[in-house]
Amino acid sequence: NASFDIAKLIDTIDFAAKKHSYQKRKDIARTPYINHPIGVAKNLTDAGVYDLATIQAAILHDTVEDTETTFEEIEQQFGQKVRNIVAECTDDKTLEKAEIKRLQIEHTPHLSKQAKEVKLADKLYNLRDIKREAPIGWSKERVQEYVIWAKKVTDGARGTNQMLEEQLNEIYSKGVFEF
Ligand code: NDP
Ligand code: ZN
Repeated sequence: NASFDIAKLIDTIDFAAKKHSYQKRKDIARTPYINHPIGVAKNLTDAGVYDLATIQAAILHDTVEDTETTFEEIEQQFGQKVRNIVAECTDDKTLEKAEIKRLQIEHTPHLSKQAKEVKLADKLYNLRDIKREAPIGWSKERVQEYVIWAKKVTDGARGTNQMLEEQLNEIYSKGVFEF
């Protein structure tokens, strides 16, 4: 039912906007954080992904990782399917940063198709963001390190969505020195 789906989608955006309301991105303008999850969801629909649970998970993908939100809360409001995709895309922030990065590379090949789609769309958004402008305080080396790591993660999700993968190829083909 289309009206029901639209209402669910708006509920999801409203939920994420409230959760991220005090957060900013790392760019110079300190863009509102919510621009990112909305942009990740748009990367998916632009690439022909219209599965509602996947789009909702994209909108919610950083809520548990970066705010007080719990998986239980997400399941209660948006159901188990959405919860599971969000869980697959959530890092364990109790671990060291280097370990978190290593685990993303290790885990991505074993994720569900839906979680891989969100991962690809998320990295695509962040890479474009970094390409547009390096985050505050990042050296060229740090930017290059990020691009190399992102490629290792997205390489683990190949064979999932051709359009997203081609857009990522485009970015990687330019080489890290053009960032
Ligand atoms: P990250 O390197 O993980 O920061 C990138 C993340 O920030 C993105 O994945 C994105 O995550 C989020 N983000 C917010 N705003 C932006 C933006 N404008 N553009 C792109 N991404 C944005 O940060 P950490 O502090 O967690 O990283 C630590 C790691 O960085 C260490 O493991 C180390 O390897 C490396 N490092 C390297 C240094 C160097 O000089 N070479 C110095 C310090 C650390 P999301 O999708 O979740 O919003
Ligand atoms: Zn993200």
